[in-house]
Amino acid sequence: MKDRKLLMIPGPIEFTPEVLRAMGMPTTSHVAPNFIEVFGQALERLRQVFLCPSGQPFVIAGSGTLAMDIAAANLIEPGDKALVVNTGYFSNRFADILERYGATVTQVHAPAVGDVPALEEVEAVLKEGGPSTGSGHGYKLMTITHVDTSTAVGVDVRGLAALGREHDVLVVVDGVCSVAGEEMRQEEWGIDLALTASQKAIGVPPGLALVVAGPRATDAFRNRKTPVPNFYADWTRWLPIMEGYEARQPRYFGTPPVNLIWALNVSLGQILDEGMETRFARHRRLSEAFKAAVTALGMKQVPVSPDKTATTLTAPYYPDGVDRAVLAHIKKSGVILAGGLHPAIKARYFRIGHMGVVSASDILATVGAIEKGLAQVGYKFKAGTGLAAAQAVLTT
Ligand SMILES: *Cc1c(COP(=O)(O)O)cnc(C)c1O
Repeated sequence: MKDRKLLMIPGPIEFTPEVLRAMGMPTTSHVAPNFIEVFGQALERLRQVFLCPSGQPFVIAGSGTLAMDIAAANLIEPGDKALVVNTGYFSNRFADILERYGATVTQVHAPAVGDVPALEEVEAVLKEGGPSTGSGHGYKLMTITHVDTSTAVGVDVRGLAALGREHDVLVVVDGVCSVAGEEMRQEEWGIDLALTASQKAIGVPPGLALVVAGPRATDAFRNRKTPVPNFYADWTRWLPIMEGYEARQPRYFGTPPVNLIWALNVSLGQILDEGMETRFARHRRLSEAFKAAVTALGMKQVPVSPDKTATTLTAPYYPDGVDRAVLAHIKKSGVILAGGLHPAIKARYFRIGHMGVVSASDILATVGAIEKGLAQVGYKFKAGTGLAAAQAVLTT
């Protein structure tokens, strides 16, 4: 344990010992009775974690990008119009994927890095596009990045999804940095497809693409006029597999990643034991404590205001005279943080993930390591200022 490090990046995150133990268990056959039960249970639990009782879950080996690919491959047909609510790096990626499947993509951009597109602007574009049914001139789907991992910007998914519903547009949410951390109520908010990956707030090592499709999304897939132009992503293959395992009757298309699914079921069980409401509240509170420390240490954040900020991560600008060299010092104190990612400001800021099993003591350890790092690179501040600000929130 001498070299123990705390991994505080926006994925992969820290995993619980129980999850890691599941990763190291002797691998069973993918049709072993105990594995069938575990896979079936994991699918049932995904519905609860996504808060989507009528959804169809998909658990497929791959990363979050595969989950995005699956959404686009199955829902888009050549010539369909798609709207991307663009908040940065991963919204750009979604636009690229949609175009690859033949969509005509319109993007509504945030006015500046760290900001979000205005609801009114999204509404105006949807109105212009007309209804998607009938004339066929409207948007078929819109994508929303719940938390942009490159900037820590969080958008009003609820408000945007309501607009999508109003205009009869399929609402697709990239929740890779949000699901099981940030508040997201898929069914209640009218989200037709939500997706994530195992290594973020779900708390399982990288390797699983997780998708929950609501009835309108699976209907749109069933009503396709053209085959899905991607062999591995095609729901035609995967629907019988997921339905089969949930009915405890395994079917084969591609070998499932047995240990990862075992670990997923353990983590989903832990998430549901905590309870979704408690979990959302814990993420909000720890985020508030951490952000209070950042502000007290004289650092500004990339998101332009608190209501446009994620609770799963924080993106502070370096203070004057400090650059990414400070991250190496922080690492020497035992905490690993991430550098900038958004191309326009990459060298000017850094990122801290605080999602999953993160605790109040992890937050304090991270603030302590940041203070020490800042002091080592010559930044002037009163030692303990950040810690006191975080503690003030944590002890109320
Ligand atoms: C991490 C992330 C992705 C990509 O996931 P990978 O597992 O790296 O492919 C997509 N969208 C968002 C919002 C993310 O945070």
